[in-house]
Amino acid sequence: MLTKKMEDALNGQVNAELYSSYLYLAMGAYFDAAKRPGMSHWMRQQAKEEQVHGMKLFDYLAQNGRVKLSAIDAPPGEWSSPLAVFEAVLTHEKKVTGLINGLVQVAKSEQDAATERFLAWFVKEQEEEEESAEKVIKLVAAAGNAQALAAVDAELGKR
Ligand code: MG
Repeated sequence: MLTKKMEDALNGQVNAELYSSYLYLAMGAYFDAAKRPGMSHWMRQQAKEEQVHGMKLFDYLAQNGRVKLSAIDAPPGEWSSPLAVFEAVLTHEKKVTGLINGLVQVAKSEQDAATERFLAWFVKEQEEEEESAEKVIKLVAAAGNAQALAAVDAELGKR
């Protein structure tokens, strides 16, 4: 059984992961409007992954406590450029890394070794999320003209 504090913290993370999914859908919609189908595809894939993250937490809560869903904030809808979008992805993932680290701290303070072990997957996943955002930022930043940006778009469409 989860302590109340642990359960509340994990429920907060369900919301954060579903917000992430919503944010990446908004970014996908931005790229749809900007006629960048590859980048939109990348964001849609990212949104699906966040849904999976949310459900991992949901299932863990369902088994060990109680799921409590809360309102998901509306994400922004406009960015100044493709590069700005991917920089916003990295900023967001760094924030999520901080949230995951916070959950690990709660698990430690609640002496909940099982949840600490459960969270190890998320700790590793966040390293990968940040790396993958950094990689795309480099690609987009290096695309100096429209043709190069179209090539990056095509590349991201292969995800
Ligand atoms: Mg996530």
